[in-house]
Amino acid sequence: MKDKNNMIFGLSSEDKRRLLDKVKRKKSQPAKDNLIRNNTASFDGINHDYYQFDKFPEYKQIQIQKLAAEKLNIAIPYFKIHDGLAKNVTTINGIEYINYASYDYINLSGHPNVDNAAIDAIRRYGTTVSASRPVSGERPIHQELEQQLSEIHNTESSLLFVSGHAANVTTIGCLFGHKDLIIHDSLIHNSIIQGAILSGAKRLSFPHNDMELLDKILQDIRGNYEKVLIVIEGLYSMEGDIPDLPKIVDIKQKYTALLMVDEAHSIGVVGETGMGICEHFGIQSDHVDITMGTLSKSLVSCGGYISGNKELIEILKYNAPGFVFSVGMPPSSVASALEAIKILKKEPERVRILRDKSLMFYNLVKASNLDTGTCSGYSIIPVITGNSLQAVNLSNKLFERGINVQPIISPAVEERAARLRFFISSAHTRKQIEDTVNILKEEQSSSTVGSIKKLFK
Ligand code: PMP
Repeated sequence: MKDKNNMIFGLSSEDKRRLLDKVKRKKSQPAKDNLIRNNTASFDGINHDYYQFDKFPEYKQIQIQKLAAEKLNIAIPYFKIHDGLAKNVTTINGIEYINYASYDYINLSGHPNVDNAAIDAIRRYGTTVSASRPVSGERPIHQELEQQLSEIHNTESSLLFVSGHAANVTTIGCLFGHKDLIIHDSLIHNSIIQGAILSGAKRLSFPHNDMELLDKILQDIRGNYEKVLIVIEGLYSMEGDIPDLPKIVDIKQKYTALLMVDEAHSIGVVGETGMGICEHFGIQSDHVDITMGTLSKSLVSCGGYISGNKELIEILKYNAPGFVFSVGMPPSSVASALEAIKILKKEPERVRILRDKSLMFYNLVKASNLDTGTCSGYSIIPVITGNSLQAVNLSNKLFERGINVQPIISPAVEERAARLRFFISSAHTRKQIEDTVNILKEEQSSSTVGSIKKLFK
């Protein structure tokens, strides 16, 4: 059973139960050392697997992967430490790289106005709001940013969360339950899946962008559930393609379902002025019931939000545990996102420049006969390598030649769909893009992974 704590009435049922337990325990509490001795005696034979972290399968799996990398002489390309500001160029261990591993889509990271807005907010409000917003964490800039986000999405209201991931998990977890169905694109972000699991709803996925199958599944089973939520992304973070929003809106209306769109990667990127997938298709924003976004990409800050009608936001404001029981957004993050929105609105050409650079990269890669899957040339360009070792190996080869790009490997994607994923920024120069694709071509054709047999020597 999931816990839908409701703060309005002060005590949740869980709190009440715990209080009751406490009272009962007080009444009949044995001496503490007796309790410990008794427990030890009765649980002597518990298997080590259940209480030692080095016996957990998750730990063992990581050790196997590290050993495999060592045997194949492949450096692990994660947790690289950047020396300073990471934009189209970054410095790692004192060496400069062309960087494709940061989401600085519209070149706002480190913008002096954004940095100054954060510094001013710290001077005025400090580094933390020190409490959840219902308790005493509310500041005027929280509401100002929510107002701006509602304007971007043309919605009635918005609510900030301390992370984009948390926004998805807590929102879905709070709104849906075991009588409901959550059906999402097969390439949906992990945070949606975690929210669906938390909710206890039936969870299904439909093949990536396959509207016909989505329609068919709902035709067959819509009647078995109370609420039905369809979840898609505005720009898919793995494939770099966009959904057929008009078609999905038809489907959601036909089956009286709710539609949620995760716009984490589409703000600042998709739509003529970067306002997202509704702007791109000229769709009225109220056809989307729940819009989710993150401040950590084009808006160069940290945090997430949900946008929609005022009833939705009212429910979340008083019920979503990730809002009610979590600290309010820090002033510096709120102020930097606010400033980023101000610049995006004043300088919409940033979106066009990003689109030009992305298309340039995409066309050059396509012309080199590299596999970009279903990508449509918006700021995320995958290059599919065919297996995880190949992806890691190619990433390392490019790193040796001054290019920082991350591999995406199984289980984040299917093994045969392992890839490098390039995030384009409007700050990338034409020369950087040309050089990168030339080096990519050379390394892709020459790179072969060490024999798997080595693993078993
Ligand atoms: N949704 C999508 C589609 C994402 O790609 C991400 C993170 N990359 C998130 C949600 C979570 O956002 P955040 O990193 O801001 O927590």
